[in-house]
Amino acid sequence: MEKSFKLFFTDQYLYPLPEHHKFPIDKYILTKEQLIYQGLVSPEQLIDPGLIDEPAILLIHTKAYWEQIKSQTLDARMIRRIGLPLTSVSVNRARNSVAGTLQAALAAIEDGVSMNLAGGTHHAYPDRGEGFSMLNDIAIASAFLLRQKKVKRILIIDLDVHQGNGNAFIFEGNAAVFTFSMHGRNNYPLNKEKSDLDIALANGTPDGEYLSLLAQHLPTLIEQHQPDLIFYQAGVDVLATDKLGKISLTKQGCKERDRLVFTQSYRYQIPVAITMGGGYSERIADIVDAHCNTFQAAMEVYG
Ligand SMILES: [Zn+2]
Repeated sequence: MEKSFKLFFTDQYLYPLPEHHKFPIDKYILTKEQLIYQGLVSPEQLIDPGLIDEPAILLIHTKAYWEQIKSQTLDARMIRRIGLPLTSVSVNRARNSVAGTLQAALAAIEDGVSMNLAGGTHHAYPDRGEGFSMLNDIAIASAFLLRQKKVKRILIIDLDVHQGNGNAFIFEGNAAVFTFSMHGRNNYPLNKEKSDLDIALANGTPDGEYLSLLAQHLPTLIEQHQPDLIFYQAGVDVLATDKLGKISLTKQGCKERDRLVFTQSYRYQIPVAITMGGGYSERIADIVDAHCNTFQAAMEVYG
């Protein structure tokens, strides 16, 4: 096995799935299994990050919202907006996912790079969740690291096909956190927030155009913002095969996207914490391959 890095994962909060569960949960366990099968990861390498504690959650979320999540008393309309059933398992899964993103950031600060095999729930706002996002992992981890003075400046590179509206809203006007979102113009959310930099792509945007835009912007973003840490939201719903995403990357193009991010973080020696984000291709194998490719691209650059 080549040199690897810390990887955060546990399956203890994935199941049981309640009825009417639409979000693809199996992709998490299948990605983990494929990484092991490919010999990229050994089972002992996987670290359970545990559950994020309440004071950290309350750095971003309102007390009223968190209390209603914790006690599972959030009203039905608000639960529908999140799109996940509200159960003790799903609440723990959200807390575990936030903890994974925070632990990945701390590990990246030590080792250069780290990945949470979960996370990227960028649609959660302080007082509500939406779009499969109950708690905002990157926002909570960012607030925690800034509060603890582990970092002074953070760059969020959000390449999920959906705009990182929660992060854009939360960090608007906050000079310590630069939000960059490159997403499908006609994808959810309908009413987008204002990130520090938004690149909205037309339907069907192919590899070439996508990759040249990214290659053009990344070095400037890093040089201008001078971050001490990058959060990379590596959603694979940019694939042409994705049922929700409206842009058209090939699997190879998606891996090239990941490689571009890692090449730049490596070149400027900025720690990068990776979260999985969305992925809704018809065949789950396409989703899993693309998530594994993110890990592999990081290994190729950092290994
Ligand atoms: Zn998405």
